[in-house]
Amino acid sequence: MIQPNPTKVTPFGAVNASVNRAADLLGIKENYRRLLTTCWRETKVSLPITDDKGELRVYEGYRVQHNGVRGPYKGGVRYHPEVDLDEVKSLASLMTWKCAIVNIPFGGAKGGICVDPAKLSERELQALTRRFVNSIKTMIGPYKDIMAPDMGTNPKVMGWMMDAYGQLNGYSPAIVTGKPVTLEGTPDRLDATGLGVAMITRRVMEARKEFLSGKTVVVQGFGNVGSFAALHLHRMSAKVIAVSDVNGTVFDKDGLDVEKLMAYLEAKKTLAGFPHAEFALPGELNALGLECDILVPAALGHVIHAGNVEAVKARYIIEGANGPITPEADDYLNRKGVIIVPDIMANAGGVVGSYFEWCQNIQMHHWERSESKLELDKFMSAALAGVSQAANKYGINYREAAFVVGVDRVYQAAAARGH
Ligand code: NAD
Repeated sequence: MIQPNPTKVTPFGAVNASVNRAADLLGIKENYRRLLTTCWRETKVSLPITDDKGELRVYEGYRVQHNGVRGPYKGGVRYHPEVDLDEVKSLASLMTWKCAIVNIPFGGAKGGICVDPAKLSERELQALTRRFVNSIKTMIGPYKDIMAPDMGTNPKVMGWMMDAYGQLNGYSPAIVTGKPVTLEGTPDRLDATGLGVAMITRRVMEARKEFLSGKTVVVQGFGNVGSFAALHLHRMSAKVIAVSDVNGTVFDKDGLDVEKLMAYLEAKKTLAGFPHAEFALPGELNALGLECDILVPAALGHVIHAGNVEAVKARYIIEGANGPITPEADDYLNRKGVIIVPDIMANAGGVVGSYFEWCQNIQMHHWERSESKLELDKFMSAALAGVSQAANKYGINYREAAFVVGVDRVYQAAAARGH
């Protein structure tokens, strides 16, 4: 039985533990470690708005810029009732390493507002968004700090952000990515994270002389990341035998037609009742424990933990979600020989897609779909090559190696700037 670790580490502390392990291997001295483990700028703002009843409401917002030595800060804005500064710092730091691993010229940032967006009307949400942009206006800019959607925000919110910034600075589509296509967003951004997950899965298997064709896949979460990861793995000839969402799991041992399943969910708003497949409620079946070659957790953090990790049977785990495996469960799976592709590499297709959107915006130009798919594969493959090289050099797993690559690139850039 795996025991949970009783010592409480904050999210930012947990990321820094990985950064410090990488710094140990790279022989980075204490003064530089401080640069890598502290945030450049942490801003907390008070956001007063008038609600629909004419009452004053005050929310708390954050924008954290972790490290910008490799380029403008880049990171999403989360609207969630549990947003706090430590979480935003940890997510900003992860963005620094993620951008460095896929080698795009961005630093790491993140923002958030402590709010449950489902409880606000559209007018209130728009007022809050505009107030937030106004409060951080001096920190952000197309070459300074570029925002994007995260939990609780979406293309519509990005459109409001672009407009609020544009009112002060003129037309600036490159201030946010993940925008509506009518506002110079790119259709390719929609599936970039899931497509990147599928691409990296294919490459990781090829590196082991295994092929995706006919391999069984289980995907937890059928939202943006999970549905497109399942769709592209299906198109690459893998056999997607089960997908789950918050309401249950749909499965078919002969493989689901993911294209049809996505259309079914769109029409019926539920996975239950999909023709020729079985359906189980969350209490009846744990998708994470199903027999399969590849497991893609693409819903929430910490879903594979000390209490359920022994049930996991997959040989490969590709982290579509951020932080789906707790450190204790990660240790157990590594000892068992499971190949884990960590979030900071596996789901980096999203920020690469955002980078492509930003490139097109600053050039006022549009790429072909085939061009951005080819480019995404190049970036994901190059990231894997770098991480594999570090894994071989130091005899470490992909997660540790990904931090080594990210930390090394940021460290080299900081040193080259004369920091
Ligand atoms: P989403 O809201 O579109 O989808 C989440 C899905 O998870 C939904 O299908 C929901 O029903 C399901 N879900 C929730 N609780 C569940 C549970 N207990 N069991 C099974 N399924 C459950 O979110 P998303 O954008 O797909 O993001 C998913 C994860 O990926 C998050 O951790 C996010 O931070 C991360 N991520 C997203 C992107 C992106 O571009 N969207 C990029 C990088 C990382």
